[in-house]
Amino acid sequence: MTIRRSRATATATLAAALCATALLPALAACQPPSAERGFVPRYEEAAAADRDSAAFLKRRQLMEQATADLNALLDVPHRITVVARSCAGEGSGYDPETRRIELCYDDLTEDRKLFEDADGGPADEPLSDVVRETLHHEAGHALVDALDLPVRDRGRAEEDAADRFAQFMLLRGPEGDRTLLTAARAYDLAAAADPTPDPDDEHAPDPARAESHRCAVYGHAPTTHTPLATASRADCPTTWTRTRTTWTTDLTPLLRR
Ligand SMILES: [Zn+2]
Repeated sequence: MTIRRSRATATATLAAALCATALLPALAACQPPSAERGFVPRYEEAAAADRDSAAFLKRRQLMEQATADLNALLDVPHRITVVARSCAGEGSGYDPETRRIELCYDDLTEDRKLFEDADGGPADEPLSDVVRETLHHEAGHALVDALDLPVRDRGRAEEDAADRFAQFMLLRGPEGDRTLLTAARAYDLAAAADPTPDPDDEHAPDPARAESHRCAVYGHAPTTHTPLATASRADCPTTWTRTRTTWTTDLTPLLRR
């Protein structure tokens, strides 16, 4: 999702004013801005209820891996901060005003419960996959913004492009198939737990997002994924080729040579 909030901007303005008067020299926001560019991970302190999820995220280094993969492929001319924080249910998202991706510890807690309830066992592996997929979906929004692509601010069209970016990026690696199939299962589990879609949600309905990922996995390697072959997926190889070509073309200005 994309998020637009005035709160973050107001906080930054207040911090700048306090820094200017040197009332709070120790405030983190008073430090000179980093010269770093590209995707930069950062952890905020977790609320008490989210501490286990925050510790899990740090231990697994999922933000570090995802940002390293993105920066290895792309040279974004500004900083995109990837912040892990307690969001109290606001949901992970990208904020174009602050160029921040926010990954919510509380989303991890919720997703872990989905898998634990379904499988009756540990959920570290599927949860890692869901986090990888979320980070790349949000990176897709950040790149739609950075490149000012035609889908920008077009609701469902931008959401679908962000999902296709996650497919494009994850299927470049050896574990992308599993990651996307796990994310597809998470959408199925979420749809089963809450079958009424939120009318304000701009994403495709969960079952459609699940099918989009399965179609990409199958279309990218049909002979490897014969169990996924169905009549309705006959066009998936063509769909996958279009996804890869479109994102490769769109990313051209940012691709490292
Ligand atoms: Zn989104």
